[in-house]
Amino acid sequence: MRVLVTGGSGLVGRAIQHVVKEEEEEEEEEGSTAAKEEEEWIFLSSKDANLMSMEETRAAFERHRPTHVIHLAAVVGGLFKNMKYNLDFWRNNIHINDNVLQAAHEVGAVKVVSCLSTCVFPDKTTYPIDETMIHDGPPHESNFGYSYAKRMIDVHNRAYFQQHGRCYTAVIPTNVFGPHDNFSIEDGHVLPGLIHKTYRAQKDGTPLVVWGSGAPRRQFIYSLDLARLFLWVLREYPEVEPIVLSVGEEDEVSIGEAADAVVEALGFNGAVEYDISKADGQFKKTASNAKLRRYRPDFMFTPFRQALKETCDWFVENYDAARK
Ligand code: NAP
Ligand code: GDP
Repeated sequence: MRVLVTGGSGLVGRAIQHVVKEEEEEEEEEGSTAAKEEEEWIFLSSKDANLMSMEETRAAFERHRPTHVIHLAAVVGGLFKNMKYNLDFWRNNIHINDNVLQAAHEVGAVKVVSCLSTCVFPDKTTYPIDETMIHDGPPHESNFGYSYAKRMIDVHNRAYFQQHGRCYTAVIPTNVFGPHDNFSIEDGHVLPGLIHKTYRAQKDGTPLVVWGSGAPRRQFIYSLDLARLFLWVLREYPEVEPIVLSVGEEDEVSIGEAADAVVEALGFNGAVEYDISKADGQFKKTASNAKLRRYRPDFMFTPFRQALKETCDWFVENYDAARK
């Protein structure tokens, strides 16, 4: 099993690197070498190949000839970057996905696990949302470029199965956070953005400004939990149909609660303000993890506050090198 991970240098890719290494170390301690001998892992970044180019994508796949692929590479960003660049999100991601899936097919990769997101679900819907509802109505207008491009992965997967019998599937994670995230205030997602803003406010003695009303609700998944689930999907999940990877509906929090948790994790003691002139985005995208629970009833998610503390500690320790 030779696994090629596209987007191996990003938030999720680095978490998968971490978990694979952790497994190898555990096996070494136990004196077993089974998985190590059976699996070779290759992590690509955009420096290895620009996956917008079919030529470069084919060359990378010819070079490594993977049997299995985890496809993470994408143009990714938070609400405010999405609102500005819907065209770029649409075009870049459509090209990357088409190139990667076709190159994987051409070298005979037997399994590809790609990554959707709960933003792909319809905006006007009933809750909780599940895997059967991806194409049921337009996504939220703030990120339609990204959302439609991601939805098309599901179309690709069903067509590769129908025409070529390929087991190309996708996972649907909720908002992800963890070490190695993109902590850019302008372009990043809410948690890394709030962590960076709180760190700066603490240093400068200024208020923390949370964007929007704080009322929207999100389910957050720790990147290391997502990485562990990704490995399970790659090794064991048998379906072409996608699967939601999420904490339970009861673990959804408001943006206001998430901001309070960041304040606590960083020990911030200044004022917290809300800038309601900024967009709220989709109010909620509450996803059901019932399918995941049918397969993995015992999977333990890291408690949100513990995962957030680990992420904040990582950011403070790696401030100079962190992406921001
Ligand atoms: P990220 O940290 O921004 O990483 C993106 C990765 O894609 C990087 O490794 C980047 O390479 C690579 N990449 C971007 N453009 C590329 C190109 N043209 N050619 C080759 N590689 C390219 O993103 P992430 O948060 O880990 O996201 C991973 C996957 O999870 C994505 O498919 C995303 O849609 C999905 N997802 C993310 C979230 C979230 O909250 N973050 C939620 C749901 C789903 P460089 O490092 O070289 O730039
Ligand atoms: P989304 O989940 O796809 O909408 O993307 P984000 O991770 O960017 O979360 C956006 C939500 O967080 C919206 O309700 C924003 O108003 C709110 N928010 C509050 N402060 C921030 C911030 O500093 N950065 C970002 N990206 N969103 C923020």
